[in-house]
Amino acid sequence: MCEHHGESGAKLIDVSKLDRRDLLRGLASGTIVLVAGCETYQNPETGRGQFIIVDEAQLAQASLSAWQQVRQQTPAWNNAAAQRRLEAVGRRVVQAAGRGNQSWEFVLFDSNERNAFVLPGGQVGFYRGLYQLCERDDWMATVLGHEVGHVTGRHTAERYSREVATQTALQVAGTQISNRTVMAALGLGAQVGVSLPFSREQEAEADILGIRYMHAAGYDPKEAIPFWRAMESGGGSRPPEFLSTHPDPDNRIERLRNYINQQGWGPV
Ligand SMILES: [Zn+2]
Repeated sequence: MCEHHGESGAKLIDVSKLDRRDLLRGLASGTIVLVAGCETYQNPETGRGQFIIVDEAQLAQASLSAWQQVRQQTPAWNNAAAQRRLEAVGRRVVQAAGRGNQSWEFVLFDSNERNAFVLPGGQVGFYRGLYQLCERDDWMATVLGHEVGHVTGRHTAERYSREVATQTALQVAGTQISNRTVMAALGLGAQVGVSLPFSREQEAEADILGIRYMHAAGYDPKEAIPFWRAMESGGGSRPPEFLSTHPDPDNRIERLRNYINQQGWGPV
């Protein structure tokens, strides 16, 4: 339960009982002040309470326009064999994550970057540089599991909600959420010159969910360790999704190693 006070202290409101429009109106007028850590949604996948005030249809729409923009700006990598492999691994991972019924799209982009991204509408972008690093399907499954983990973890909805609430609270009346905010919240900040990466906590959660999914899909979770080592030793530019929020990659590897061993999937 989280507390929400009117400025005058007139009433306490349980925001989980408000619909999104009322909540935004309350924020804009200053009658609702959000307290950090407020939870409106219990994520069945993680058991974690989340603050989410955006609905899925709205996010799916935003995903679609962001996706179209990225596809216009970034050349595709036309490699039929690579495309087949990406989709084969991707399908197995989304099935294992229980999301086989949702629509997914897997696209290879012609860029040296060792990077990948996902939009909440199920669009997955995978860069050639990362593809070429993935010498094993288990490595690809590590990446794809992580990306699917951002979707099931509802990380974009969470980040977007926080952003909307902050903007609304700051700007008081008549706030229009800008396209830049939407793009940033979708993790595409780099493309539009703003950066709002997933938090460390979200990255760590996506790592663990990803390992679970790859294991359930029949891939070897132990391979996540050499994969992240290879990413670490790669050098070059620091891609926004995987490295910018992780100044200490050893920490990520250590966490994964502990989890894998705890699950009895090791020793690693
Ligand atoms: Zn991530």
